[in-house]
Amino acid sequence: MKILVTGGAGFIGSNFIRHMLKKYPDYQIVNFDKLTYAGNLENLKDIENDPRYKFIKGDICDEKLINQVFSEEKLDTLVNFAAETHVDRSILEAGAFVKTDIFGTYNLLEAIKKHGIEKAIFISTDEVYGDYEGKGFAKETDKIEASSPYSASKAGGDLMVMAYHRTYDLPVMITRGTNNYGPYQYPEKIIPLFVTNLIEGQKVPIYGKGDQIRDWIYVEDHCGGIDVVLHQGSSGEVYNVGANNDPEITNMELTKTIVRLCGKDESMIEYVKDRPGHDRRYAVDTQKLRNLGWDPQVNFEEGIKKTVEWYQQNEIWWKKIKSGEYMEYYKKQYLNR
Ligand code: NAD
Repeated sequence: MKILVTGGAGFIGSNFIRHMLKKYPDYQIVNFDKLTYAGNLENLKDIENDPRYKFIKGDICDEKLINQVFSEEKLDTLVNFAAETHVDRSILEAGAFVKTDIFGTYNLLEAIKKHGIEKAIFISTDEVYGDYEGKGFAKETDKIEASSPYSASKAGGDLMVMAYHRTYDLPVMITRGTNNYGPYQYPEKIIPLFVTNLIEGQKVPIYGKGDQIRDWIYVEDHCGGIDVVLHQGSSGEVYNVGANNDPEITNMELTKTIVRLCGKDESMIEYVKDRPGHDRRYAVDTQKLRNLGWDPQVNFEEGIKKTVEWYQQNEIWWKKIKSGEYMEYYKKQYLNR
């Protein structure tokens, strides 16, 4: 099978490429990535010379280049990870989110329509269901009710995917993952941000009272879920991919766990003004994917421990990132408030 992975140089995409090459010795992967601030070829250093792997630098919004890739590469499938992904950045400036997450999705759908492909998966998020405080668990058929410019742009992309399925019968699927954590996550997201801050002796900025609930899935489990959907999912269907943490975990509990695993005390926690429009709880029903035989393998305690250790052992990876553009963003987000 030859898979076009778009956005494969980011956090989940790079873990997915590694997962697929390891599990399927005869698969080939073309990684197509714009290398925005979040794209990093260092995430794939260990496999860059693998003959089954090829990298192409490009933008999913670039119609000409996408058409060229589809006509030259003889692809069987597409898995799209390419997106602007950070809620806080979408609140500062949403234009790039609308472009990549909606127009870029449309551009990929047009290429599928024109060139044909066996199947395609568009990676989406539980955030499209909006705030689930007091509401149980979102099913795939539940209403989309996005709260942030990020989740609205992802929801726009999802609607476009489903419209192209219904209108043109394209063989497309959507996965909606919960909050991922693990190796190679850009250190603007809460877990790597907090771990790396603590290693550097800096405080960790927690929004509001820290009572927001997220469902934390270890990235390798998310990749396993996408793999199952790719091989067993049905065209036109949406699949939630979540860990269903039990008990649910608040950001404060998450923060205290990280502080403890980093050998620090709670005086390192700093309270900052809450994010505007901040959703209080995300929770999804994952039965549909579990019915295909998938189950998450890594529980939160084990996963968070492995994750903290990875950042402790890979300072070279994140120290390079935590400079330049990253510092500009960090100042805007946390220091000028
Ligand atoms: P990331 O920000 O780490 O990586 C995104 C990648 O997409 C980067 O390599 C970037 O260079 C690339 N990219 C961005 N715009 C592009 C464009 N126009 N053309 C080509 N490449 C482009 O993101 P991530 O955390 O790995 O998320 C991957 C996908 O999974 C996203 O679609 C996101 O919405 C979804 N998702 C993420 C999470 C999470 O917790 N991280 C949870 C659920 C769903």
